[in-house]
Amino acid sequence: MKGEYKDDRFYIEKINQLRKEKRAIILAHNYQRGEVQDIADLTGDSLELSRKAAKTDAEVIVFCGVNFMAESAAILSPGKVVLIPVPEAGCPLADMITIKSLKARKLEYPEAAVVCYVNSSAEVKAESDICCTSTNAIQVVNSLKEDKVIFVPDENLGRYVATQTDKNLIFWKGFCPTHYLVVPEDIVKAKEKHPRAKVVVHPECRLDVIMLADEVLSTGGIVKYAKEAAIKEIIVGTEIGLVYRLQKENPTKKFYLATEKLICPNMKLTTLEKVADSLERMEHRIIVPEEVRIKARHSLDRMLEVSS
Ligand code: SF4
Repeated sequence: MKGEYKDDRFYIEKINQLRKEKRAIILAHNYQRGEVQDIADLTGDSLELSRKAAKTDAEVIVFCGVNFMAESAAILSPGKVVLIPVPEAGCPLADMITIKSLKARKLEYPEAAVVCYVNSSAEVKAESDICCTSTNAIQVVNSLKEDKVIFVPDENLGRYVATQTDKNLIFWKGFCPTHYLVVPEDIVKAKEKHPRAKVVVHPECRLDVIMLADEVLSTGGIVKYAKEAAIKEIIVGTEIGLVYRLQKENPTKKFYLATEKLICPNMKLTTLEKVADSLERMEHRIIVPEEVRIKARHSLDRMLEVSS
């Protein structure tokens, strides 16, 4: 009946049935809603998920995340159908660079290499020399023979990398609007409230926030740190979805979000209902043109060679 209320259990059952029927794997980024993380086959960061999914024999990948992440899955799994439940789920950081503006910057600095953070479109990856993640950005930049590096699109990550390398970095004016909301006062207040806690932040945060942290780690790095470090309390400077995962995996430890502002609205667009609809209708398919895919794959492969 139209407008009838259906609870989570209804959608979970439907998802489970469809996932089997369609031979699908469901991936949830660490910033997804808790209930979406709970039904996923794999939870993690965007590249980790895409790499793992490529190794499975699933025929369909449902990527619960934002557009560029589903594109990465399509780049690494050309033989699989890649779906995103909510096509409007974009990433403002990835949208802060266009292929035209990158080409213009390359003309300004023809001697520079282009390093592109994975939070970018397939087209921008294809136009870059090498990709990087927040885990390996310093290693990737240091591996280049060029002294000058155009670092796109995240200025905060670039500025953090610049504090750890002798390379000459040319920054891009891009930023994650969610991580940008964390200000130094938030960290100071959180530390006052939880004096025994360590502060762990993502490098998409501003440099003045990073400088106040005990550790600067990617989401995967935070997951590992939370599990292995002999500490009981952590102030988390990244999106709220990760706190859900940390608390679930470490029930005896305490995690505090650095500020309640750390919510990415795009990541929260995906719901159980949208995942079920996506599987039922086999929507919305992500297709990366083959020419772009091959070049983008090359930038990713080059990064994997450096970091493995
Ligand atoms: Fe993009 Fe930031 Fe949201 Fe990640 S948290 S998807 S970088 S806007």
